[in-house]
Amino acid sequence: MKIEVIQGDITKIQVDAVVNAANSSLLGSSGVDGAIHKAGGKEILEACQYIRNRQGKCKTGEAVITTAGNLPAEKVIHTVGPVYNKGNKIEEELLANCYRNSLLLAKEYNLKTIAFPNISTGIYRFPKELAAEIAIQTVKKHPVVDKVIFVCFDEENYKMYLEKV
Ligand code: ADP
Repeated sequence: MKIEVIQGDITKIQVDAVVNAANSSLLGSSGVDGAIHKAGGKEILEACQYIRNRQGKCKTGEAVITTAGNLPAEKVIHTVGPVYNKGNKIEEELLANCYRNSLLLAKEYNLKTIAFPNISTGIYRFPKELAAEIAIQTVKKHPVVDKVIFVCFDEENYKMYLEKV
C-alpha cells in the first residue's frame, strides 16, 4: 500500500473515495464537510438524507458511503470524528475507528484509492500532532487498499505528515 501526503483541497482529488469529516447528523456543516457538499452538489446530501432516514444519526467513529455527486472522486465516505474534550483514550480510539472503518468500507466496495482529510483537527479541536500519529498508525495497520493520500489543508499538518509518514 502506497501512502502519499499532499497539501490541497480534497474536493479536487481524483480517487476512488474521498473521506469526509462529517458530523453525526450527516446533513453537512462547515469546514471540509461544507466544502464537499458545496462542490459535490445536492446528490450527496440526498444520499445522506436517505441514510439518515434508514439508520438515524451516524455514530462517532463510524462511516457510511455515498455517491460523490459532481466531485472527481467516485464515492464519498462520511465518517464522524470525535470532538476533543478531555483528551482521554476513548477519544483517541474513536479517531482511530474513523480511519479503520473508512478503510474497511473502501475495501468492502472494492475501492483502491482513498484520500483522507485531517479528521477532527478543525472545529473538533483534536491536537494536530496526536491526530496525525493516530491517522498514520491506523492506516499502516490496515493495508486494505492500493493507495492512501493524506490531504492536508494547512501547512502545519502538511509538514507534520511529511515527517511522520
Ligand atoms: P472536524 O469537525 O472533524 O474538526 P473540520 O472540517 O473543521 O472537521 O476540519 C478537519 C480538517 O479538514 C482541518 O484540518 C481543516 O483544515 C481541513 N479542511 C477544511 N477544508 C478542507 C478541504 N477543502 N480539503 C481538505 N481539508 C480541508
